[in-house]
Amino acid sequence: MSRLRQAGIHRGPAPVVHPETERFWRGLGQGRLQLQRCTTCGTVRFPLGPVCWKCGGFGHEWADVATTGTVSAAVTVRRATGDPVWADEVPLVSAQVDMDDGHRLPGRVLCDPDAPPPHGTPVEAAYLATDDGYGVLCFLLRAAERADPAHNDPAHDDPAHDDPAHDAADDDPVHDDPAHGDPEEGP
Ligand SMILES: [Zn+2]
Repeated sequence: MSRLRQAGIHRGPAPVVHPETERFWRGLGQGRLQLQRCTTCGTVRFPLGPVCWKCGGFGHEWADVATTGTVSAAVTVRRATGDPVWADEVPLVSAQVDMDDGHRLPGRVLCDPDAPPPHGTPVEAAYLATDDGYGVLCFLLRAAERADPAHNDPAHDDPAHDDPAHDAADDDPVHDDPAHGDPEEGP
């Protein structure tokens, strides 16, 4: 599975890390997108939790999952709610993304807030680094890559190298906590 690009530094409220979800947050901080896979029935599940929603099994292992997908729905958040720190971050684009292997994940899309991506827009997962080594999931638009098939994209193979999203994201790096999401969105 592809490693995620670091798209900036997370400046919002720190992720609420529970021992059962610590692997998810730590994986993101290392550029890995991992979800729980039930060791009884094999279902890869989200939201994270102690029990399989499909079979009721308690066991799980961590599985690398697809890092690309398409936007299911995206909205521009213009009024901060919850933690006051968001007041410095709006407007921002919050979305749910249909990942290529079938999961639907929430996260901020780092893009022009006046042009939230329409349904079906291709995106790739990325992360914003936190001070304690965790990462927060976010998404970057893939339109430029598709529009230019001759473009050789080294960042896909080597996320530590050549990160064009980094500069832009430095100005606007905070985003939703995917496991404890923004009250204005939700599946
Ligand atoms: Zn199961």
